[in-house]
Amino acid sequence: MMIVMIDGATEEEVQGVVDKLHEVGAEAHYSRGEFKVIIGAIGDREVISQIPLEALPGVEKVIPIMKPFKLVSREFHPEDTVVEVGAARLGSDQFVVIAGPCAVEDEAQLMDAAKAAAEAGAHILRGGAFKPRTSPYSFQGLGEQGLELLARAREATGLPVVTEVVDVRQVALVSSYVDMLQIGARNMQNFLLLREVGMQHKPVMLKRGLSSTVEELLMAAEYIVRGGNSNVVLCERGIRTFETATRNTLDLSAIPLVKHLSHLPIIADPSHATGKRELIADLSRGALAVGADGVMVEAHPDPRKALCDGEQSLDMPAFSRLMDSLRSIAPAMGRRI
Ligand code: PEP
Ligand code: MN
Repeated sequence: MMIVMIDGATEEEVQGVVDKLHEVGAEAHYSRGEFKVIIGAIGDREVISQIPLEALPGVEKVIPIMKPFKLVSREFHPEDTVVEVGAARLGSDQFVVIAGPCAVEDEAQLMDAAKAAAEAGAHILRGGAFKPRTSPYSFQGLGEQGLELLARAREATGLPVVTEVVDVRQVALVSSYVDMLQIGARNMQNFLLLREVGMQHKPVMLKRGLSSTVEELLMAAEYIVRGGNSNVVLCERGIRTFETATRNTLDLSAIPLVKHLSHLPIIADPSHATGKRELIADLSRGALAVGADGVMVEAHPDPRKALCDGEQSLDMPAFSRLMDSLRSIAPAMGRRI
């Protein structure tokens, strides 16, 4: 249920509605626009509908939210949410580029990648320290040592860093080192993990599951926002289809669709979507053209030697060329880099 307050409703009037909701055991979530406050009431629908909300002072109207996702819906929060990660502003007119290796391998590799990415104009550095791998025999990441290297790379370049967290028990540790937490595709419906990252305050990048619908992605985001953390960035990273010529199929249509349905920023990850470095630049430009708020690309100083996902990583000169081309077309889309 959405309670739309009149323009300029007083704090007292807003509080009056919230108190009524709390009286019946419902939760109240706020969306504060420039003129209007909207209160999202979450709880037993039957019980909430017994309250004469429309008669309370300051209430303009009460609208049921028909969609299963509520707090992340555009109905509840009409303006775009802007998620700040260091100086990057996802969901604004800035097209945010996240770059770095699939996995943190050692200090030299990460520093080389970080410095070249920063020089080329990337906004956020990525690097996996805990790697969810299909095979238990593949490189699993450096763990906490990888987090330390990420923190050092941030110090050296000034770039904020994002890394994946795979386990509820590591959320506090990972968030003590990095600027944004990533929930990987394989964990998109790990509801305990979603709840846990919802209870801390670092921004979260939530990647679409390998076989998840857009609605399931938004419901997963709803878990995080309901926990109290509305700094969520969605990521379209390709889904499983019958097509095997690419690693996954980048669902570009999900990007404008999510923009209609939700106020949360959404970026694309053409590296994991295609598995092919030669497709990354074209699909990054495609993502910009369909309204994505940014891209995340894998970039490595020497992709042939990468311990993970080398075939879908750009080398640093190719990454720099991609930045140049994004910079030249961004203004046509009303974006800056
Ligand atoms: C990643 O970005 O490092 C990753 C593992 O991606 P995904 O979860 O989308 O497979
Ligand atoms: Mn990878």
